[in-house]
Amino acid sequence: MEYAQVIIVGGGVSGLAAAKTLGHAVKYVLIEAQDYLGGRVLTVDAATNLAVDMGAQYVIGDKSALYKICDELKMLLDDDDADDDEAVVVTTDGKVISSELMEKAADFWERSIDDADDKPDGQHSALAVSFADFVPKVFQRRLLSCSLFPRELCGPITDYFMKSEMTEANCISLSDLNLIEYSNYEDPPGEYENDLKHTGYRPLINYLKSSIPNDQRIRLNCEVVRVKFLSTERKLSVEIHDSQKQQKKTMICDHIIWTTSLGYLKEHFHQIFADEHDLLRQKQNAITNIGFGVLNKVILIYKKTFWRQSANSIILLHTHENHLFEMSNTLQQLLFDGSIDPSVVQEVARGLSYCDVLPCTDIPVLVCWFGGPAAITIENFTEQFIGQICHETICSYLKIDQDRYPPVRVLKSGWHNNKYTRGAYSYHSVRSNKQDGKQLRIPYAPDGIQRILFAGEATHEQYYASVNAAFETGTQAAKKILSIIN
Ligand SMILES: Cc1cc2nc3c(=O)[nH]c(=O)nc-3n(C[C@H](O)[C@H](O)[C@H](O)COP(=O)(O)OP(=O)(O)OC[C@H]3O[C@@H](n4cnc5c(N)ncnc54)[C@H](O)[C@@H]3O)c2cc1C
Repeated sequence: MEYAQVIIVGGGVSGLAAAKTLGHAVKYVLIEAQDYLGGRVLTVDAATNLAVDMGAQYVIGDKSALYKICDELKMLLDDDDADDDEAVVVTTDGKVISSELMEKAADFWERSIDDADDKPDGQHSALAVSFADFVPKVFQRRLLSCSLFPRELCGPITDYFMKSEMTEANCISLSDLNLIEYSNYEDPPGEYENDLKHTGYRPLINYLKSSIPNDQRIRLNCEVVRVKFLSTERKLSVEIHDSQKQQKKTMICDHIIWTTSLGYLKEHFHQIFADEHDLLRQKQNAITNIGFGVLNKVILIYKKTFWRQSANSIILLHTHENHLFEMSNTLQQLLFDGSIDPSVVQEVARGLSYCDVLPCTDIPVLVCWFGGPAAITIENFTEQFIGQICHETICSYLKIDQDRYPPVRVLKSGWHNNKYTRGAYSYHSVRSNKQDGKQLRIPYAPDGIQRILFAGEATHEQYYASVNAAFETGTQAAKKILSIIN
C-alpha cells in the first residue's frame, strides 16, 4: 500500500499553499478530484491575450502575504485612472440617475449596517437577528427622510443594494445572513479590491504549482471518498477513487490537510468520516450551521463598447416591477428551441442588478454578477441563452438596439452544480456563531496527535470567503505539521 507522510486533500489555493510550505523534504501527495488545479480560482482563456476569472477575480487587501506574492508576480493592475471612473446608473425606462445620488445611497447603506452594532446580538433567542430584519428598514427610513431621493426610486434603490449585498455576502437570502457576525466581519487589511491584469489569477496558481516537485505528487481526477484512523498502526487510511481509471485505491499516511469547500463537506462529511464518531460529533453542528451560498458570473465579450467609455460599471434599477423588454428574434428562438418557460427571462433579467466593465483590457468585456436564487437558475440554461438575456436587459435599460452590438462570446460560471464546490464561499448564517467557526477549524487528534488539519477558505477566523483565507489557512496547517514532524 502506498504511504505518504502527508496527504493534502484538494488542489485549490489552500492545498497548493500547504504543498509549497511542506517543501520537497516532506513526502506528501496532493489529491485533487477535478482535472485542474486552482479550485475556486479558475482562469480561462476568453480572447486573444485575455484570460478571465470565473471564480475569484480581486486580491482583497494590500498588506497580506498573498498580495506580496501577486505583486512580485506582476499580476496586479496599476489602475491610476480608477478615480475618474464611475458607474452608469439607469432605470427600467432608460432614465439616467446621477452617480452622486447612488454614492449618497451607498453611504446610507453602510451607515445602516454600522447601526447594527447597537443591536442586541440575539443570543437569547434561538436565531440571531438577520440582515433582512434590520438593514433594509433602517436604510429605507434614511432614504425617505432625505429630500434628494425621489420617492419612486426608494424601493428600486433598496432592491439594488439588497441584491448586491446578497451577491457580495454570497448568501441564499438576506434573511439567512447573521447581522452581528456580518457587521463584525473584517476584510483583509488595506485597499479592498485590487484588480488583476489580463492574465487573471493564473500566474499565482502556476507559481504555487511550480513549487511542487514533478514526481507524481499531484494526483488529478482523484477523489478522497473515505478516511479512517487505524488506532493500532496509528496511521490514517485514505480511500481514493480515480475517476479516469475507474479504480479505487487505498493510501496510508500520518497526517491529512483537508481543504475541500464547506459546500462539499455539507454533502459528504458523514459518509467520508463515517468511522470517526468523535470527529462527526465535533464538527457536525458547524458544518450544518455555517452558511455556504452561490455567486455566479456571466461574462459578455463584445467587439465594440456601447456604454460610456469612462464607465467602470453599469447599475440597473428595476423601477417597473413587471416590465419585460421586447425580446429579439434570437432570444425568442432560443426560448422556443429549448422549450423554456418565458418567465425564466423575467427572473434572470430581474436578478441582474449590476455588471462591471473589466478594467484590464481594451477588449470590451462586461462581468454580470448573480447572487441568491437567480445565481442557481442561470446554471440550468446554456451560456448562449443566459448571455442573450443579460445582453438584451442591459441594452433595453441603456436604450441601445440589441441587434447592433451582439456579444461575440459568452462565458458563465457554474459553482453550484459543481459537485466538488457546491457554491461560492461561506458566510455566517442566522444559525451559526463564533463557536461554530472554532469547531470547523479544530484539528482532529484521535491519539493526541493532530492527524487531520482542516484548512480552506471557510476555516479562517477573520476573513473567510477570500483567497487570502485559503492561502493563509493552508500555509498554517502545513506549518503545524512541520512542527509535529520535526
Ligand atoms: C464567483 C466567485 C468569486 C470570488 N471572488 C473572490 C475575489 O474576488 N477575491 C477573493 O479573495 N476571493 C473570492 N472568491 C473566494 C475564493 O475563490 C475562495 O475563497 C478560494 O479560492 C477558496 O480556496 P480553497 O483552497 O479554500 O478551496 P477550493 O478552491 O474549493 O479548493 C478545494 C479543492 O478541493 C477539491 N476537492 C473537493 N472534494 C475533494 C475530494 N473529496 N478529494 C479531492 N479533492 C477534492 C476541489 O475540486 C477543489 O479544487 C470568489 C469565489 C467565487 C466562487
